[in-house]
Amino acid sequence: MPSLVDGRWEVRRSEVANYRRCERAWLLLHDWGLRPPEELSANPENNLWLGQQWHKVMEQAMLTATDQFRPDVAYEAGVSYIRQLQDEWGHLPAWFGPRTMAAWCKAIVDGPIFQRVEEVEVKLAYDLSRFLPDDTPWPGLHLVGTLDALVRDQYGNLWIMDHKTTSASVDVTHLAKLYALNDQLSCYSLLAQRNGYDVMGSIIGAIRKTDAAKSTGSLVGFTQQTRPVTALNLCVKDLKWIMQGVHQDAGGAFDDPIWRPNPTGFMECWCPGNFERICEAHLQGEDVRAIMESRFPIVEGGI
Ligand code: SF4
Repeated sequence: MPSLVDGRWEVRRSEVANYRRCERAWLLLHDWGLRPPEELSANPENNLWLGQQWHKVMEQAMLTATDQFRPDVAYEAGVSYIRQLQDEWGHLPAWFGPRTMAAWCKAIVDGPIFQRVEEVEVKLAYDLSRFLPDDTPWPGLHLVGTLDALVRDQYGNLWIMDHKTTSASVDVTHLAKLYALNDQLSCYSLLAQRNGYDVMGSIIGAIRKTDAAKSTGSLVGFTQQTRPVTALNLCVKDLKWIMQGVHQDAGGAFDDPIWRPNPTGFMECWCPGNFERICEAHLQGEDVRAIMESRFPIVEGGI
C-alpha cells in the first residue's frame, strides 16, 4: 500500500510488480500484510537476507570505482565486508566468499562490463498522480525505486547496474533470455529517463549460489539489455492500469480474494508471497483462514 514518506505518498516498484503479477498476491502481501515467517528473519540460513547482504558487498566494491574500476581494490573492499559478516554471523555459505568476489572482479576486467561507477544506491521517483482520481487518498503519489548503481561504459554511455543472486545458470545466453522482457528493468529505465539520466539500459550482474560440493561452472555472468522507447511506453501503460486497480482494490473492490476465481492458474505461477498453499486450500475447500493464520505472520500496515 502507498505510504507517506517525508510528506510524500510513495508506492514501491516491487509492490507495483507484485500487483502486475497477481492481484490476489498483492492484496495478501500489501493490503493484509501477510508475509512468510522466513522472510522476516535475519540469518545466514535465509536466502532473502543473504541476497540483501550480497548487495551490500557489491555496494562496497562499487564505491571504490567512482574514478576507475580497479579489480584489486574492489576485491579488497568486498572481501572486507564479507569478513565483517563472518565475524558477526559465523559460518556463511560457500558461495558467499572471496572466491565469488574474485570471479566477479575478473569478469568485469575481462568484459569490460563498465569502466567506472557514477552513483551507487540511486533512489528515484516518478509522479503517478495523473493516473488516480481527484479524490484519491494518496494525493501526489510517486512511484519509487532504488537502482543498485549507475555506471559508465568505455564509450561514456550510462547504464543501470543491477545485482542478482541465483541458484540457476549464469550463462550469458541464459541470462540474456531471462531478462529480455523483464519489467523491473523497464521500470528502472523509465525512472532513470524521467529523472534526467540518459541510460542505454541495464547491465545485470548475476552470481551463482553454489555449495562447496558444486565448485565447477561459471560463478558470475553479465548481460546487457537496452530498453527501447516502446518498452518504456508500455511500462507507463502498465502503471496506469495497475494504479487504477490498486486504488479500487484498496477501496474494497477486492475485499475477499480467497473466493474469487484464480486469476493466473496457481500451479504455474511464480508467487511473490509463497501463497500456493492458500490458493490450493481454496480449491480443495479447506479452511483457508486457519492456514493463513498458522503460516503467515501479519506485518503491520502491509509491506
Ligand atoms: S499462488 Fe498464484 S494465484 Fe495464488 S496468490 Fe500466489 S501468484 Fe496469485
